[in-house]
Amino acid sequence: MRAEGIANVRRILCLFPRYTSSFGTFEYAYPLTDGVRAFMPPQGLLLIAAYLPAHWPVRFIDENIRAATAEDFEWAEAVLVSGMHVQRRQMNDICRRAHAHDLTVAIGGPSVSACPDYYPSFDYLHVGELGDATDELIARLSRDPSRPEQQVVLKTVDRLDMTRFPIPAYELAEIPRYFLGSIQYSSGCPYQCEFCDIPGLYGRNPRLKTPQQITAELYKLLECGIMGADYLVGDNFIGNRKAALDLLPHLVEWQKKTGYVLRFSCEATLNIAKRPEILAGMREAYFATIFCGIETPDPVALKAMHKDHNMMVPIMEAIQTLNSFGMEVVSGIILGLDTDKPETGQHLLEFIEASQIPLLTINLLQALPKTPLWERLERENRLIEDEGRDSNVDFRLPYDDVITTWRACMGRAYQPDKLLERYEYQITQTYPHRLQPPPSPERASWKNIKLGLIMLRNIFWKVGVLGDYKLHFWRFALRRLARGEIEYLISSALVAHHLIKFARDASSGHTNASYYSLKLQQASVPAE
Ligand code: SF4
Repeated sequence: MRAEGIANVRRILCLFPRYTSSFGTFEYAYPLTDGVRAFMPPQGLLLIAAYLPAHWPVRFIDENIRAATAEDFEWAEAVLVSGMHVQRRQMNDICRRAHAHDLTVAIGGPSVSACPDYYPSFDYLHVGELGDATDELIARLSRDPSRPEQQVVLKTVDRLDMTRFPIPAYELAEIPRYFLGSIQYSSGCPYQCEFCDIPGLYGRNPRLKTPQQITAELYKLLECGIMGADYLVGDNFIGNRKAALDLLPHLVEWQKKTGYVLRFSCEATLNIAKRPEILAGMREAYFATIFCGIETPDPVALKAMHKDHNMMVPIMEAIQTLNSFGMEVVSGIILGLDTDKPETGQHLLEFIEASQIPLLTINLLQALPKTPLWERLERENRLIEDEGRDSNVDFRLPYDDVITTWRACMGRAYQPDKLLERYEYQITQTYPHRLQPPPSPERASWKNIKLGLIMLRNIFWKVGVLGDYKLHFWRFALRRLARGEIEYLISSALVAHHLIKFARDASSGHTNASYYSLKLQQASVPAE
């Protein structure tokens, strides 16, 4: 549905800020692709763009792809911005640029919803999800698009049911410029891990879209040029197990109709390993990757952070179960926990080697507002607001030791030979369990083949010829070529290249230890 009953016409500029370089944005992989410039289409802003009155002209710009120009600001009557904490500095910068053109600027999304006081200069703060605050914002802009005399805070009390969400305005975004496609499937999580702000922001009772909404979005993404992979965004794919089971046959049907052109991925708690019926459905729907917040292999630490559900199945066994359904596990890891010991880094490296997980986002603990961790550390007087630090947590271990451990882990885990060995394991032990999609004209299309050839050329030239780990690369690549594993070669080489390069920055101190750190860093992809 859309906002209705609005008489006036307003020109709206939806601006998505640049990301600060991080493990999860894959920017070092972009030069190996055919023109990818950004990670995933921003769901929230594209949703709002679709919800605006149908007769309002909307311009959408993702500044990871191109920067808004003076002409864009001159065209607009108001600017809408959304983003996460990690984009805070860039969002405030957009506000400054819009105000230079005397434009009204409204901000919504997860960061402002958790921390309204991070955004003192914005004219409107939209706190919470799509709902009555959105209607109020639209009504105010319709009545008068000029800047209010003082900041107005609009808080959503009545959320719009997700089953009534419009399809995000994917047609406004340059979908082929994104590394991954994405669809928001659910919101909220029933668990309460101490460090996580999801239950506080979105509730413990997961809200979901219907299977029909998901397949309609998939068709639209396909029309807009999506290729390769799509991430079903949601805080926990099995937050509502029945809903996950209901969705999967629809995804299977969609894959059959469209020729298996997309691989799916999602985020779920590790106890999904106890649900073989869901895993079997995911295999049939061609899920290739699953992100699990393992956080730490230490059971004492898991208990302390209230993530006991990670221990419902022994962690190694759970990983192997997911692998046996053809899914590669991607894992989140946290260092700097109260339970960490001087030997934690060594234990983590041993875990990485034993689990054979190629991609682990190793972050430093950061206390986010609206989390039980924040409240505890505030009580213990252990929150430190200092932009020169990599975390706002006063660790139990000496700060420098924690940072040194993080750097050492990044440096060693992502040595090219070690990482490519882990990919070798996945290709030989996990991927053979995947569904082998039937040949289809869509998969064998000239567009797909051309894309593969371009990426292969880029990989061979930029990694195999110009790269500084070419011997390791060729040892890995020649085995893939000999076995005809071209698709695996491309997908693993792209991700591996980013991880190797990013980890080098990290271990040499050129990037933050915490994804959420306020420490000033260069933004990832310069908008031109
Ligand atoms: S399971 Fe994941 S999404 Fe749910 S509370 Fe824990 S960290 Fe957050």
